[in-house]
Amino acid sequence: MKYIGAHMSAAGGLHLAIERAAQIEATALSLFVKNQRKWHSPPLTAEQIDLFRYTCEKKKFNAFQIIPHSSYLINLGHPTKEGLKKSRVSFINEVIRCHQLGLKLINFHPGSHLNQITEKHCLERISESINIILDRTRGVTLVIENTAGQGSNLGFSFEHLAGIIKGVEDKSRVGVCIDTCHAFAAGYDFRTERACIETFMNFHRIVGLHYLRGMHINDSKNELGSRIDRHESLGKGRIGQVLFSWLMQDSRFDKIPMILETINPALWKHEIFWLKSEQLLTRNNAILSCF
Ligand SMILES: [Zn+2]
Ligand SMILES: [Zn+2]
Repeated sequence: MKYIGAHMSAAGGLHLAIERAAQIEATALSLFVKNQRKWHSPPLTAEQIDLFRYTCEKKKFNAFQIIPHSSYLINLGHPTKEGLKKSRVSFINEVIRCHQLGLKLINFHPGSHLNQITEKHCLERISESINIILDRTRGVTLVIENTAGQGSNLGFSFEHLAGIIKGVEDKSRVGVCIDTCHAFAAGYDFRTERACIETFMNFHRIVGLHYLRGMHINDSKNELGSRIDRHESLGKGRIGQVLFSWLMQDSRFDKIPMILETINPALWKHEIFWLKSEQLLTRNNAILSCF
């Protein structure tokens, strides 16, 4: 069974993100658990927590169908001591909020060296940050999202993701979220079934499919290897429909939140409907059993 949804607005209350997901017939969702553009948010009240948990139950969302997205301000590989501390404190706060809400996952962009430290040093800092955050929290898995490699953002190659995980002490609480637009922008092809198989074979060899805890399913406005992060609606970009249909027919991608961050929210309900219908197609076992 696939969990399919989109990044929902939590404007007016966190529980409304759940209500909005249910309205578009989503079976997964992403949301921000605090204002993503501010360092500080007031702590959650008991009423907010109860209402969120009650709405999840009412709309039948379990903790593995929801993957909150951390704040864009956080840089766990920050080159300065001060920036690093601020990011770590803020992330710990977000993980605690997730735990209070009964959630089990949170995804984040790994970090940027800002041209002040080496890639290697930055990746080590990210692993160190994860260790510190895991040590001060419980119950929530930190899910590293691959990036398009824009600017000095790291995490655009599978080797980066594997390197970060290697430095994490408690590997039971670290995972990966593959954003298909970002991977394509970073040079991983998905335009044919053969390309999908090869890319995920590489992922499995370098990182390991068992670390895959979520996906962002986006088409890309820009070319393969462009290193530019511009999402597009499914089938309307440079990736095309094959990948999304292929993912829906492969049971290895079951039971992880698959989140649309495509550019036209008015299409989400339709995109979710299309993805669900693609699951029903006959799978090509001969091709799928290649890895
Ligand atoms: Zn994403
Ligand atoms: Zn993106």
